[in-house]
Amino acid sequence: MRDVNVGRKYLAEYQSIVHKELMAEIRQLAEPLRGKRVLHVNATSFGGGVAEILYTLLPLMNDVGLEAEWQVMTADSEFFNVTKSFHNGLQGAPVELGAATRELYEEVNRRNAAQLSRHYDFVVIHDPQPCAMRAWVADGGEGTRWLWRCHIDTSTPDASLYDYLLPFIRRYDRAVYTMASYAPDDLGVPLEVVPPAIDPLAPKNMTLVPDDAHYIVRQFGIDIERPLLLQVSRFDPWKDPLGVVDAYRQVKAHRPEVQLALIGSMASDDPEGWEYLEKLHAYVGGDPDVFVLSNLDNIGSVEVNAFQSHAAVVLQKSTREGFGLTVSEGLWKARPVVAGGVGGIPLQIEDGVTGFLVDSGASCAERCLEILERPDWAQAMARRGKEHVRRHFLTPRLLRDDLRIFNELLDG
Ligand code: UDP
Repeated sequence: MRDVNVGRKYLAEYQSIVHKELMAEIRQLAEPLRGKRVLHVNATSFGGGVAEILYTLLPLMNDVGLEAEWQVMTADSEFFNVTKSFHNGLQGAPVELGAATRELYEEVNRRNAAQLSRHYDFVVIHDPQPCAMRAWVADGGEGTRWLWRCHIDTSTPDASLYDYLLPFIRRYDRAVYTMASYAPDDLGVPLEVVPPAIDPLAPKNMTLVPDDAHYIVRQFGIDIERPLLLQVSRFDPWKDPLGVVDAYRQVKAHRPEVQLALIGSMASDDPEGWEYLEKLHAYVGGDPDVFVLSNLDNIGSVEVNAFQSHAAVVLQKSTREGFGLTVSEGLWKARPVVAGGVGGIPLQIEDGVTGFLVDSGASCAERCLEILERPDWAQAMARRGKEHVRRHFLTPRLLRDDLRIFNELLDG
């Protein structure tokens, strides 16, 4: 296991952004939890939604008086090939679950569990990669409350995989899912439903004036006088980047000036990303108006912010999505967002009111054209989207929900 340094953040700085009732509620819920030790465990500290959430949530937990730590499990690429297949399997793809696969998964979890040397009041295990750790904790983890935080849409999982993981999940005191419909009826663990959130003050989401955003995107070759379509996502088939290229081509047939940027980070627990990146490059061909960029091209949080702040349309054309933080990120920048109507995306977008939900390349292209043709109307829609995010999907709300669950577990 490897410690991640989460730095410092202060809840008071969010005062002017979220409602003051929420701030008061957080302070009240934090009081009985003062000094409680919390450990979060996941598979990577970079390149995906969970890492994004923990970098904000943990410093705020610390600021309100808890002692929160984050550790990333250590494993080699063979393990992450297995757990990526678990991730895909939980989203509905078929999984080969042979004895060697199970042995590797359990052995790596056992090894990481053996490195937990301190007592924690709460341990929050994120997603399937470290899910089995709970089974092999020395002293049985007595006196600790264990939470399994599932960020994935598991509503139609591969049955054999789910049967295999269920006994591990059942060892937890609580399961926390983004939507109630993601949990099976026979979960056998008390369920909490908590969607994730974005940090409005992180470099990824803080306000950038247009000049600064222009300055940054120009450095990557974007012509700021011409409209830009953007998708920010891991290079993963479920995010449908090839479908985004198709939609862009349909838009371009009507609006030849349009450009497309596909920005994706290479996460250490996502070995499929490299292969998919190559496929994407081949698919794009030599189109000079399509920009495929990643952390390997020096794209970091501020650059993602600049692209999202500048884009004429933010896309998230997923065919499966646990939540889709990128949707809230786009809305928070008051950009018109067009996204697949799957998983947690409809929590963020009311179709035609705060953005658009689409189910095909053709409908995606149509909505993009509509936005390009009616910019004032699209802007009004995007501003409603921003207010929706303010009310429901900023980190202080997530902090409140987690503190409420910790309190319930203490009382129970
Ligand atoms: N992200 C990023 N750079 C990239 C691709 C993604 O910073 O090149 C971030 C993105 O801004 C978002 C997170 O990674 O905060 C992805 O979270 P999401 O819930 O959309 O998808 P996940 O990767 O968890 O499936």
